[in-house]
Amino acid sequence: MRGPQWLDDGMPHIWLPYTQMQTVLPPLPAVRTSGCDIHLADGRVLVDGIASWWTACHGYNHPHIREAVSAQLGRMPHVMFGGLVHEPALTLATRLAAILPGDLERVFFTDSGSVAVEVAIKMAIQYWINRGVSGRNRLLAFRGGYHGDTLATMAVCDPEEGMHALFSGVLPQHYIVDLPRDEASFRALETLLSESGDEIAAILVEPMIQGAGGMLFHGPDVLRRLRTLADRYGVLLIFDEIFTGFGRTGTMFACEQADVVPDIMTLSKALTAGTMALAATVTRSHVFEAFLSDNPLHALMHGPTFMANPLACACANASLDLFATEPRLQQVARISAQMTEELEACRGLPNVRDVRVMGAVGVVELDAIADMNRLKAALIALGVWVRPFRTIIYLTPAFTVRPEELSRLTSAIAQVIRDGAAG
Ligand SMILES: *Cc1c(COP(=O)(O)O)cnc(C)c1O
Repeated sequence: MRGPQWLDDGMPHIWLPYTQMQTVLPPLPAVRTSGCDIHLADGRVLVDGIASWWTACHGYNHPHIREAVSAQLGRMPHVMFGGLVHEPALTLATRLAAILPGDLERVFFTDSGSVAVEVAIKMAIQYWINRGVSGRNRLLAFRGGYHGDTLATMAVCDPEEGMHALFSGVLPQHYIVDLPRDEASFRALETLLSESGDEIAAILVEPMIQGAGGMLFHGPDVLRRLRTLADRYGVLLIFDEIFTGFGRTGTMFACEQADVVPDIMTLSKALTAGTMALAATVTRSHVFEAFLSDNPLHALMHGPTFMANPLACACANASLDLFATEPRLQQVARISAQMTEELEACRGLPNVRDVRVMGAVGVVELDAIADMNRLKAALIALGVWVRPFRTIIYLTPAFTVRPEELSRLTSAIAQVIRDGAAG
């Protein structure tokens, strides 16, 4: 079947993400979304198990968000944030400060997750410079971590994910170590901090779940101990909640499960519920105060052109309305229970290494995926949009997914594994 004309015309001119363009299979032309459905140009409808890279937490085209964007579009789609401020951004900052734990109350807006992490790194390094401490210019991050695709964030990703070898000589050198999950690795981390802590500006971690690195889970005790070590060695602690923030792990923010307040937190992905690009770097007061000075060089010299875009902030405010008025965290708990029960069918199947669920994240880890294209095609043939990567097939549905839609997603995963489509 022929695709739409714009597909044929445009494919020779587009460069797709994470794609070897020489061997790329034709991507699916999407023309419309609604709820958990993605409508394709040929009339097929796929049930979305991924919520567009974990963003569309209330499903697509939620009327409340659409109305907020339309109203803002009529008033002021954008205005520069240098020298001017506006209600959507200041209201959003106020609301984020109110729902974030502790004194995480100072918000710097950017336009993508990677940039929010870049700003966090820049803040952490400048924090020490402003305080007259020299030499603290490296980050301590973890294998399995993912913090973005820009050069500064690649350098704090898992070495493989961040392609440290390919870009060696270009990327700054940070400490990338195993995430400490047992006594021995905690001791190793403590040794590193005691020997090299005075070179380290901050520890950077995705709390509870390392997402793009493979949906790897850890317990709240890991975060509590990182907080303790950060305090003991006087380094800052940054939580990258770009994936985990806004309910995904079962609490509004993953750090709540450990009762730990990081010094800096990054947010994006579900911040605008998947409608507009927006990110935030939020700091505690003591971090912000290190930038207050008579010396102009102590200011944070950063300001993306589209920072605090009013349309995006209006989306985020409307999304927070929905978290306040609709039972999102109960829905996450229900999704969690249903995925736990239904993905159990995969355990014990050939090629299945692990089945795990946390909040609205369900993962089936395989020994190997031999033919990724065949697996993806098999899932699409079953009418679901699920994007396996590395050795995992996972679900991060909208929190508004209906039980029967979720069952279609979980049973499609069990079926492709049973059919050997992944083997
Ligand atoms: C997606 C992601 C990023 C990068 O966000 P972009 O908007 O894609 O730049 C950073 N950190 C984590 C934890 C993420 O999941």
